[in-house]
Amino acid sequence: MSALAAEVLATARAMNAAGINRGAAGNVSARCEDGFLITPTGMPYDACTAADIVKVSLAGAPQGRRKPSSEWRFHRDIYAARQDAGAIIHAHAPFATALACQQLEIPPFHYMIARFGGENVRCAAYATFGTQELSDAILAAMDGRRACLMAHHGMVVFGADLAEALALAVEFEALCEQYWRVLQLGAPKLLPADEMARVIEKFKSYGKQS
Ligand SMILES: [Zn+2]
Repeated sequence: MSALAAEVLATARAMNAAGINRGAAGNVSARCEDGFLITPTGMPYDACTAADIVKVSLAGAPQGRRKPSSEWRFHRDIYAARQDAGAIIHAHAPFATALACQQLEIPPFHYMIARFGGENVRCAAYATFGTQELSDAILAAMDGRRACLMAHHGMVVFGADLAEALALAVEFEALCEQYWRVLQLGAPKLLPADEMARVIEKFKSYGKQS
C-alpha cells in the first residue's frame, strides 16, 4: 500500500508541475483492494509524505492519520460505477475551468475529443463541492466518457492507472486550451458524427501494442 501511496503523492505533485493544477486544489486517487488511496484535504502536496495519503473504503470509511480530500465521494462513486477506472485526477486546470465556468461542453472541434470516449466532453451541472449531488452530476456527465468538466469548478479525468490518468489529464487541458483559442475565432466548425464514430472505433486499439 505504501508504494501506491507514494505514487499517488508523486502524481499530485506532477499534476501541479505540469501546470494543470495549483496549490492544494484538486486531488488524486488510485484504486486499491476494497477501496482507494486519496490525497488528504487542504495540505500542500510538497508538505505531504506517503503516510499522509488516506485510504477510503468503497463504503466511504476513511483510515489514516489525515482526513481525505473533501471530494472523496465522487472518487468513491466513480470506482464503484466504472470498472475501467484505476486512478482519478481532479484539477482546477486553467483552461478547463474557464470553459466550465461558462458551463460549456466541448464539441467535436478536434478528433482527439474521441480519446475521452465519445463525440463530446460534457459539463456536469454545478453543485456544492463535496456533496452527493455533485458526485451524481459528475457520474451522469461521465456516462460513456472518462472525462468531464464541472460547472464553476474544474475537471475530472480517469485512467486505468495513475500514469494514464495524468497523461489524459494533460491531454485534456491541452484540448481545453485549443478549444478556448478556437472560440476566439468565431463559431467553431465541427467534425461530422460519422467521422467521430470512425475515430472512436480507432481509439479502441490506440496505444495497445498487442
Ligand atoms: Zn475541486
